[in-house]
Amino acid sequence: MYISKDNYIIQEIRKQTQGEFKPSKNMITRWFNILNEEIFNNIIHPFHDIEIKRKQGCHAEHIPFEDGYGTIYAMLSINKKFNDKNEFLYTLAHEMIHQWQWMQLGRTSHGNSFWKWKNKLAQFEIPLGESI
Ligand SMILES: [Zn+2]
Repeated sequence: MYISKDNYIIQEIRKQTQGEFKPSKNMITRWFNILNEEIFNNIIHPFHDIEIKRKQGCHAEHIPFEDGYGTIYAMLSINKKFNDKNEFLYTLAHEMIHQWQWMQLGRTSHGNSFWKWKNKLAQFEIPLGESI
């Protein structure tokens, strides 16, 4: 499928907004909703909670939980500071794939079910990598 260059996500990515980016919970939720609708067809369950903190050695983590009744959910733990906005958007897209894996497949990995999203993300000019 061809995505118009007028697409909101593509426009935002191409801006390559420079400078430190500090995401708020509102901003994360807003972009979660945009990416979910445009890229993932709204199949990604929202994170149960979002934690913003200073992370070391990574930009973000998907933290899965299962309660005593077998209900699964997850928390997004994300760095409070990014080098620029695109780094934040790439990170959020990556963690959203882990959320999809966890809620649909009950596990997360950088295996086939991760890489199957690579082409779809590339249509929106979002690169997918293992390290986040
Ligand atoms: Zn990952």
